[in-house]
Amino acid sequence: YIEELSKLKDAEAKTRDGERVTICSNIEINEEINIACEYNSEGIGLYRTEYIYLDKGDISEEDQFEILKNAVLLNNFNPITIRTFDLGGEKLSDVLPHPEEVNPVMGLRAVRYSLRFKEFFKKQLKAILRAAYYGDVRIMFPMISGIEEVNICKEMLRESAEELKSENKNFKGDIPVGVMVELPSLALITHLIAREVDFFSVGSNDLIQYTLGIDRNNEYVAYLYRPTHPSILIMLDKIITDAKNAGIEASVCGEIAGEPKYIPVLLGLGYRNLSMSPASILKAKMVINRMEIDSCVKLVRELKECKYARLAEEKLSNFINAYA
Ligand code: PEP
Ligand code: MG
Repeated sequence: YIEELSKLKDAEAKTRDGERVTICSNIEINEEINIACEYNSEGIGLYRTEYIYLDKGDISEEDQFEILKNAVLLNNFNPITIRTFDLGGEKLSDVLPHPEEVNPVMGLRAVRYSLRFKEFFKKQLKAILRAAYYGDVRIMFPMISGIEEVNICKEMLRESAEELKSENKNFKGDIPVGVMVELPSLALITHLIAREVDFFSVGSNDLIQYTLGIDRNNEYVAYLYRPTHPSILIMLDKIITDAKNAGIEASVCGEIAGEPKYIPVLLGLGYRNLSMSPASILKAKMVINRMEIDSCVKLVRELKECKYARLAEEKLSNFINAYA
């Protein structure tokens, strides 16, 4: 089994009926890029930059630029999607100025934090645009709840480019801009926002948390954490359909993208771009290489009709076991 897995390092992810699936990596620190490259990951689909901050505290534009530029270079010219700070919520730092909040996960988190502390955000935007000069960099905003927020972020990105120009620094201004689809409010208007951005990345961890109203780290309600809940399937379906209609890419970067059990569901829904922890890549390739799209489509159709979570989970286990 281990031998079969390691053979998959150089293999492409392709279903038995010939559908190519792109597999990228989720990383938190630059050191993980080597592992990603070793498994022939096709790029970084999610760089969780908040870990730079959580590790070092308030960090200058220059120092952020150095870290991000190194990430771009380490990544062998593959695309790299840099997500702006997803600070707040449970990802808080001692050195971070932060108000007391009763319910921080619903509060000043991610892009909301960045838009409140605009100078702090600007430093990051400028560091990203400077790093983009060295490779295929895309930028992505977390926890977007509506179109206004994206427009403000895009405006700030333009301002950052203007400032870099007047400072005579090397940068690339016109990089692809995407959003994390991880709040139900955004998942339900992807037909509108698809015209405003270049790509979607589905953050299923938060999408499930906020849709089902369960803290993703709370063991008492963990039993309710169901990626196959019909509400989630309906949203996942809508997101990819709207992306296709608008001609933009929608990838999945939440944990389900790297979980063998849920990969057939994502394939059946139409997703062909997955981003996962590098440690999940080989197993994911193994699953994908055994699948046929037709049966994944049929599986999704059946899951959508399951009234009870238990039945959906059973169906999924039977499906996966048949391919093992
Ligand atoms: C997600 O919410 O699915 C996601 C990928 O972002 P994070 O886990 O960093 O919140
Ligand atoms: Mg998230």
